[in-house]
Amino acid sequence: AAEKEKMNAVAKIKVVVRKRPLNKKEENIIDTHSNCLTVHETKVKVDLTAYVEKHEFVFNAVLDEEVSNDERIEATCFAYGQTGSGKTYTMKPLPLKASRDILRLMHHTYRNQGFQLFVSFFEIYGGKLYDLLSERKKLCMREDGKQQVCIVGLQEYRVSDTDAIVELIERGSATRSTGTTGANEESSRSHAILQLAVNRDCPWNQSKPPRLVGKLSFIDLAGSERGADTTDNDKQTRLEGAEINKSLLALKECIRALDNDQGHIPFRGSKLTEVLRDSFMGNSRTVMISCISPSSGSCEHTLNTLRYADRVK
Ligand code: ADP
Ligand code: MG
Repeated sequence: AAEKEKMNAVAKIKVVVRKRPLNKKEENIIDTHSNCLTVHETKVKVDLTAYVEKHEFVFNAVLDEEVSNDERIEATCFAYGQTGSGKTYTMKPLPLKASRDILRLMHHTYRNQGFQLFVSFFEIYGGKLYDLLSERKKLCMREDGKQQVCIVGLQEYRVSDTDAIVELIERGSATRSTGTTGANEESSRSHAILQLAVNRDCPWNQSKPPRLVGKLSFIDLAGSERGADTTDNDKQTRLEGAEINKSLLALKECIRALDNDQGHIPFRGSKLTEVLRDSFMGNSRTVMISCISPSSGSCEHTLNTLRYADRVK
């Protein structure tokens, strides 16, 4: 009971903003791409002469460009932001770090007492699910009576060392971005979801199926600017834009409902929130990392990202 109370005392939702450094190209075009973001402790300020009013936001944490990937480790988390703001860069090392900790616990603290770690990696593209570890095989989702989500046919790989995890992350990431004209182009329209599941054998009856004891989800969301593609000339692009818009809105609504302890959580708003339903329930903790570019050329998108994060907070 004491443990439970301690869990409840920890905030369910944490919103972190991460500012990436200016890149070489932006540094060279001084006029249109000067640094327009200043960070001070948990405050981030968007400063542009074009805007009369200055914009200031406060979050749980704000990470300046000096913070390297070595210093980051989070639990269940989302990366939100426009294409090129650093979502994939931020998310990529997280599952590896988390699984390193999980494996250490399994081996040393619990001496492998029937624990197993599984990795799966899939994406949601245009409202449909594809397995990134199985040649983009199309998947479908089912919900059992106990509100557990089941993705039919999803490959789950059992792993016992970090090398195997690195290999799976690399393979899935490569599958996500191949077969297209511009790699970032295509991956910016899909949500990539990597899940780590810890199962445990029933201690008194080994013939029973193992039980899920924990799940971590790492979600590299579609580029937030894609939600505005709803006026594009291409019909396919328009449909995808509408789908992305719907899912990012639904995600915001679900997180807000959770944070306010509302009984009804609108999971059904999108495929993304439906798939993540069980990751939001019970004792789950959610971290949203909002990635922003310092370039004044991205200022409009940056403000939108900060506003979104501000609503989730
Ligand atoms: P996104 O996934 O949001 O489209 P990426 O993660 O691909 O963006 O980042 C775009 C580029 O910026 C990449 O070349 C990446 O290496 C670089 N980058 C992003 N964030 C950082 C950072 N914090 N430090 C250094 N380079 C970064
Ligand atoms: Mg990306």
